[in-house]
Amino acid sequence: MTPTPTWHDRAAALTLDGRAFINGQRVASASGETFDKHSPIDGRRLGAISRGQTADVDAAVASARAAFDDGRWARQPPAARKKVLQRFAEAILAHRDELALLETLDMGKPIRFARTVDVPATARTIAWYAEAIDKVYDEIAPTGPNALAMITREPMGVIGCIVPWNYPMIMAAWKLGPALATGNSVVMKPSEKSPLTALRLAEIAVEAGLPAGVFNVVPGFGHEAGEALALHREVDAIGFTGSTRTGRRMLDYAGRSNLKRVYNELGGKSAFLVFPDHKDPARAARTVAGSLFFNQGESCNAPSRVLVHESIADDFVAEVRAQMPAWQPADPLDERTTMGALVDEGQLRTVLGYIDAGRAEGATCHGGAQARGETGGFYVEPTVFDHATNAMRIAREEIFGPVMAVIRFGTEEDAVRIANDSPYGLQASVWSHDLDRAHRVARALRAGTVHVNQYDEDDITVPFGGYRQSGNGRDKSLHALEKYTELKTTWLRIDGA
Ligand code: NAD
Repeated sequence: MTPTPTWHDRAAALTLDGRAFINGQRVASASGETFDKHSPIDGRRLGAISRGQTADVDAAVASARAAFDDGRWARQPPAARKKVLQRFAEAILAHRDELALLETLDMGKPIRFARTVDVPATARTIAWYAEAIDKVYDEIAPTGPNALAMITREPMGVIGCIVPWNYPMIMAAWKLGPALATGNSVVMKPSEKSPLTALRLAEIAVEAGLPAGVFNVVPGFGHEAGEALALHREVDAIGFTGSTRTGRRMLDYAGRSNLKRVYNELGGKSAFLVFPDHKDPARAARTVAGSLFFNQGESCNAPSRVLVHESIADDFVAEVRAQMPAWQPADPLDERTTMGALVDEGQLRTVLGYIDAGRAEGATCHGGAQARGETGGFYVEPTVFDHATNAMRIAREEIFGPVMAVIRFGTEEDAVRIANDSPYGLQASVWSHDLDRAHRVARALRAGTVHVNQYDEDDITVPFGGYRQSGNGRDKSLHALEKYTELKTTWLRIDGA
């Protein structure tokens, strides 16, 4: 009997195609230039990726525009588009192992979560928006008897999607699902750090019946392919997920070109508030550890500022520390691993720099060491800073690594003030069994999502996005459909009514 191949065997057997996907086929970049992609797991070279630049973006936008203008997707009956996207979702699941392996090799997350979280969530997103296609009705306005005013939603045209590396497939699906469901064409620019799954998704979509030209992918760098896409005058909207710094640029590009719509989903520094009347603070501690250390802390909504009432803080920190052994970094291709590698050496240096800053500013550090350096990959231990203040850099800036800042508070007013004292407003969590307090605090928090006595529930049915510098617009839910449609009013006169 042949032994089942390990994930390492499968990784060794992979041949990667890093070429762009334009008009239904793989193409080399116009300049012929490529860049090398290395795996964060062990520094191994994975292959060459096309270095998309203006000419490649022009070709992809032209392909998307032609596909939109001739109606090969937008004018198909809703039931037909629904069937194609359903087949696409099924095909994603059928390619579960391959897509999970690409994601793990590309950005370092544990294979077990890539298989059980990232691939299913990507498929569910596409399937959910497929279902929505023939469930959303247009409107008739309540006007006078001689008139009929119809309010219809029309696809915008060509949507540029620029996505980050932390959840490459899921972020792609959050843009693709609503953009394709509403009949648009898409040009996607994945992160240069994690382009592999977006390229495969585009191939799989066409195999599932999506017409060529409707979904194009141009890999490349932000300042080249990303900038060319965001400045392109034939692009009608940008769905962007990434850092607040780059989000500002998106607005600037739109202002300098055709005032395209810009939807920004940006960074966060989410606050997790634990009050002494919560009956099970140990559960709160386990939840915050799991939510922060998951995905190596590389989550926009990571609860990285933990505000704990001073009367329970010592026990709470002890319980969080007790969770740390379960999140020690290990081989991402081992199915038992819970925490994998940071995306690259730059990210490792950034995270270690914040750990140094937290120590220098006087917080008490638990963990904080680089790990597994002998592998050639980029790993850091789960890290908890106790006795942090909200003025410290580790509490103000998004670290995007497994680093928690615990801040002690005295009163409810203090807790709310500290939580809201941030440039960001993505998510927050309140832990209290006092019903009035839980509601009062949830209302006072300036965040797009507030969790009460939990953090890990999530579903495609609810909007995701932030207040303040965490962005505008919302991904997920039926609300996301509005982002990629224009509202049209058509007036008709009815004689003799
Ligand atoms: P980033 O801003 O560096 O890059 C994001 C994308 O923008 C990449 O594809 C990149 O190539 C491109 N880009 C970079 N510079 C560009 C430029 N000058 N012009 C055009 N495109 C450019 O962000 P990142 O490091 O890839 O991702 C991490 C960030 O994403 C974090 O801040 C995280 O909080 C945020 N994020 C937010 C959400 C959300 O839903 N709010 C979800 C996931 C990640």
